[in-house]
Amino acid sequence: MRFDPADRGEKPAPSYYEATRNVALVTPRLDGDLAVDVAIIGGGITGCSAALELAGRGLSVALLEARDIGWGASGRNGGQVLPGLAVGQAKLSRLVGADDARRLWDMSVEAVSLVEQRVQAHAIPCDYHKGYLHAAVKPRHERELEEEVEALAALGVSGARVLRGPEMRDRIATDRYRAVMTDPLAAHLHPLNYTLGLGLAAQAAGARLFSRTPVTAIEEGQVIRLRTPRGTVSAGSLLLSGGAYLGRLWPQMAGYVMPVGTYVIATEPRPDIASLLPMNEAVADLNFVLDYFRRSADGRLLFGGGVSYSAMPPPRLAGKMLARMRKVFPQLGDARAEFTWGGLVDITRHRAPHFGRLAPNILMAQGFSGHGVALAGLAGRVMAEAATGQAGRFDVFARIPQARFPGGRALRVPALLLATSYYRMRDLL
Ligand SMILES: Cc1cc2nc3c(=O)[nH]c(=O)nc-3n(C[C@H](O)[C@H](O)[C@H](O)COP(=O)(O)OP(=O)(O)OC[C@H]3O[C@@H](n4cnc5c(N)ncnc54)[C@H](O)[C@@H]3O)c2cc1C
Repeated sequence: MRFDPADRGEKPAPSYYEATRNVALVTPRLDGDLAVDVAIIGGGITGCSAALELAGRGLSVALLEARDIGWGASGRNGGQVLPGLAVGQAKLSRLVGADDARRLWDMSVEAVSLVEQRVQAHAIPCDYHKGYLHAAVKPRHERELEEEVEALAALGVSGARVLRGPEMRDRIATDRYRAVMTDPLAAHLHPLNYTLGLGLAAQAAGARLFSRTPVTAIEEGQVIRLRTPRGTVSAGSLLLSGGAYLGRLWPQMAGYVMPVGTYVIATEPRPDIASLLPMNEAVADLNFVLDYFRRSADGRLLFGGGVSYSAMPPPRLAGKMLARMRKVFPQLGDARAEFTWGGLVDITRHRAPHFGRLAPNILMAQGFSGHGVALAGLAGRVMAEAATGQAGRFDVFARIPQARFPGGRALRVPALLLATSYYRMRDLL
């Protein structure tokens, strides 16, 4: 679980999000033995969302987080609140059929609304802002944007438009893109403060959240027992929401996802940042190894991208990220990377999430494939529904067929590297 520059012996660099956290969530370490209706492993968006839903239904809940709430992908990501699944609707229809693909789309739209509702209902100070552009780097992407507008219209979403020339430059000050598509549903936010806000809301609803409490063993049964260094939890049901960080706690789950590193920099606050994205929209391009970026509330550019399949961050990471950023915004030639950080994304083979039952009373959700800021919140909700006897919506996700990466981690990495090299090559064409 190493991916900070600090792990290379470089100066510790907390993420921009850590440096600007503004939600005072206090969580103890578990010390002693506890019995609850539902236990949750993992204090990211999935786990905190499930805790909030379950406590709201009157159940006793213990959430166990190995580090701090929001320490995983949920507190480190690009902050882009996206509808849909990473796999895309056309491929999803081929995987699950048209009816389930439509149900999954509708739930993904609910996922986006749920973020906004929760931010408002719990007054979460996370700089939530609507507005998003998908950017075409090459002619093939332009056609994909045109097709996407039609696909969205067929799903009942109006308002998406492809912009070029001066209309595009009114929204983004770059010559890198051939066209952009406005997304009427997507938004962006400060993901750590959002996750901490969900945690605080879950606490207020009665859930008990424990940090610095790694679960080291799970004993199955009608009453499940979880072991942690200083205590145990007995529970009627268990939700596993450890994302890419679950490691080998439940080895059978690990083969279905590949933990992949991806990275973000934050520039210093600059007066010229606002004019780069005058409508404060978040942006991602359509390359396979994509660039994603947005303004921060305090006038920085947060720029993400790059992938690595090693547990270590790439060398000279900040310089590489600055070079990517300057390809989009050469105007930022003298900008510095004041913060550089990364996190692990849990990718499935086909990029559709992986939900399932490991036992009648043990549910899991993982594999959001870089598309979980909105979807993980919905995952927590449908897991809570399933744990309280309404499994219909959870089962739509659980019906998505899954395939293991062949050969365990030793072979997963070369296979994915091969696939990524192919897509990187396509990015150049
Ligand atoms: C750099 C980066 C950029 C991204 N950008 C975007 C984006 O812009 N938009 C988007 O939609 N998605 C994005 N994602 C993906 C998104 O962040 C994730 O899909 C989502 O946060 C997953 O949430 P989660 O709660 O399932 O997992 P996490 O947030 O990873 O939480 C899992 C938690 O489980 C804990 N845990 C693991 N094992 C144990 C154990 N044994 N005991 C106790 N606790 C344990 C971990 O410590 C961790 O805190 C990005 C991810 C990264 C890393």
